[in-house]
Amino acid sequence: MTGYLSLVPQRIVVVEDEPAIAESVAYSLERDGYTVSTAATVADARTLVDNADLVVLDLILPDGDGIDILRQLRQTGQRAAVIVLSSRDAEADRILALEMGADDYVTKPFSPREVVARVRAVLRRTSIGAAADLNQGPALPLRIDRETRRAVVYKQGLDLTRVEFDLLATLLDVPGRVYTRAQLIDRVWGDGFALSDRTVDSHVKLLRRKIGEAGGNADWIETVRGVGYRVVEDGATQDPGLGSS
Ligand code: CA
Repeated sequence: MTGYLSLVPQRIVVVEDEPAIAESVAYSLERDGYTVSTAATVADARTLVDNADLVVLDLILPDGDGIDILRQLRQTGQRAAVIVLSSRDAEADRILALEMGADDYVTKPFSPREVVARVRAVLRRTSIGAAADLNQGPALPLRIDRETRRAVVYKQGLDLTRVEFDLLATLLDVPGRVYTRAQLIDRVWGDGFALSDRTVDSHVKLLRRKIGEAGGNADWIETVRGVGYRVVEDGATQDPGLGSS
């Protein structure tokens, strides 16, 4: 995928059984230049999502669970990005979806504009990939070199512990993406390691302090309430490819 440089419209499937929501989201995405199809059931979605670049996925559908669509996509190794639509009180579903590889979520009720903004952001970052690495791509002020295990804020090196480096490296795998505490534990300490969420929180706190001391902004690592952490994308509100349309 070449992202915003592509001349071929990116294909989005909106899976949502409430017609008014499906229509307004589809309309806003089409107006933004995407090719959009809609599905109101798990059965309809299954075939449609095959060639999608991104799927906007409601979790509660008349014939089943939207999570099954996400599972299908990830099991067949398709790299379609997924943005989950979830209700405010469905925190457990939201966490499960992120752990199963959803890229982001939007909480209902939402405005179609909010969905469009998330879609743009997710497609931009899946196109850029791991651009946060020290030796390549557009720079965040916070960068790492995975081989030498060096981290810098602007040009100032950070003196990080193994855990702090691995935490930062995991968060920088996809800048802007939310990682749950369980995902961070799996990636940093190892699968199935028994560790309290608090331990993750204290390491993040130390990491933030070091970033701040090196002249960076501790808020670059954002707490996503009830879910986990993410690295804030620098200038994430701007869209360098499409300009201000
Ligand atoms: Ca629904």
